[in-house]
Amino acid sequence: MSDTVVAGETSGVIRLVTKAYASLLLACFALVPLYLIAYLFFFQDPTLKFEDHAFHVIAIAAATLEGLFVTYVTWRCYLSSGEPLLRWMTLGFLGFVLIYALHGAFTGLAHHNLWLFLLYGPASRLVMAILLLIALLSYHSPSDAMDQRAQPWPWLRWIGLFLLVNLAVALVANSSIAGAPAVRLSMEGGALVFSALNVTVLLQRRIRSPLMTIFAISVTAFALSSLAFILGRPWNHMWWLAHAIFAGGFFLLSYGVVQAFLTTRSFSTIYSQEEMMGRLAEAMARTENALHELERTNRTLERLAATDPLTGADNRRRFTEQVEAEMARIRRGGEPFSVLALDLDNFKTINDRYGHQAGDDILKGFVQRCLDAIRPYDGVARVGGEEFMVLLPRTVLEGARDIAERLRVAIAGSSFESGRQRQIPVTVSIGVSQFGRDGDTIEAIIGVADERLYNAKHLGRNRVITSVQTGGNPALS
Ligand code: GH3
Ligand code: MG
Ligand code: MG
Repeated sequence: MSDTVVAGETSGVIRLVTKAYASLLLACFALVPLYLIAYLFFFQDPTLKFEDHAFHVIAIAAATLEGLFVTYVTWRCYLSSGEPLLRWMTLGFLGFVLIYALHGAFTGLAHHNLWLFLLYGPASRLVMAILLLIALLSYHSPSDAMDQRAQPWPWLRWIGLFLLVNLAVALVANSSIAGAPAVRLSMEGGALVFSALNVTVLLQRRIRSPLMTIFAISVTAFALSSLAFILGRPWNHMWWLAHAIFAGGFFLLSYGVVQAFLTTRSFSTIYSQEEMMGRLAEAMARTENALHELERTNRTLERLAATDPLTGADNRRRFTEQVEAEMARIRRGGEPFSVLALDLDNFKTINDRYGHQAGDDILKGFVQRCLDAIRPYDGVARVGGEEFMVLLPRTVLEGARDIAERLRVAIAGSSFESGRQRQIPVTVSIGVSQFGRDGDTIEAIIGVADERLYNAKHLGRNRVITSVQTGGNPALS
């Protein structure tokens, strides 16, 4: 992510110069064949020849096999992405292979019928250049439908057309016009014009994706190879160089196709490194946001799962967890804790007299008053309709009794209200027990606290009971 930030921070001028330099490098690289052509043109004797038929046949056979493989890979990419550009490229490669193969096959006839041997070369390049231009013009067109892609007939029709081209070239080669310079020149010149058009369209439409850059360099090579063929004569060095330039372009373009095959199977959705970094940064930011959101939601869910929705007090599960944590602390040598069991007095009557809504409001007010009266680390839990428990860490029975009493007085002494109802009297009965003194399991201490609460009810309510009753203050036993 930081790389993109750095790239974004660099000053505008430096960035512009760097980009221009990168474009210049690409152009210089694409024009490498031109330097070689110029070198041969100006410094080499054009009558020097290297006429080796076997070498030529092997080279063309290898090119044909490679061409077939690249056609197949391009076709597989097309089947997967349905990009019209890939459909036309497949046809371009296929047409080239089917026509060019005859150029190799007729090598042996070079001395008997030179044109039958020669003309398949420019014909194959012309056909490919036309189809690659159509391919480029369909860049970013919507994908072909799935069922349309695998239909054999359109392909077979094209194969038929390529075979017809082969036939036509044979007829021309055997006709009286075969030797006219215009014949070879028009084909090779046509290939050059279409390849040059391809480059022009790429530059003019400012298509800059990585694979299309490869496409651009390749078609530049095709154009330059046609130029070299025009300048060369059969078997001389310029002629061989033309072959090499064409092969270089073909290798590069097939490298692009293989890259597409190994990644997205499409020519238009391969991104540049810059774009890739941008997308990566975006994706990472989105993931980070989603994680934060998830954490927030998890915390909310945790809170909701641990609290009572009406009063906001802890629920029984949370209370049990806290008691267990306290017990673990005691096992490690901590001080004992106590619990209070609370039950609102005559709550049924309150409901009956003031209505259920008033009952709900009282329950909420009750929890609030409890929280006000106890220490911040003491927890209030709603464990039944109008039944609550309070956990008092580090508190022995006597201290717990004082807190319970403070609570009882706070409730009895405050007035509750609901809607237009004011001063609803509410009291609470409380049973107290201490861990260790009254039991050493959760069940035992809650059981004892409940038992004492029951006693408190029995003795007339609105009181705190910490042990078996011994008389004295009726509210405090
Ligand atoms: P005691 O003093 O013996 O505890 O008498 P009581 O009336 O409080 O006891 P009882 O268990 O008979 O009644 C409890 C009442 O609490 C019954 C029920 O309608 C009411 N209650 C339970 N949960 C809620 C609630 O969420 N909201 C309201 N408004 N009332 C509730
Ligand atoms: Mg009750
Ligand atoms: Mg009650």
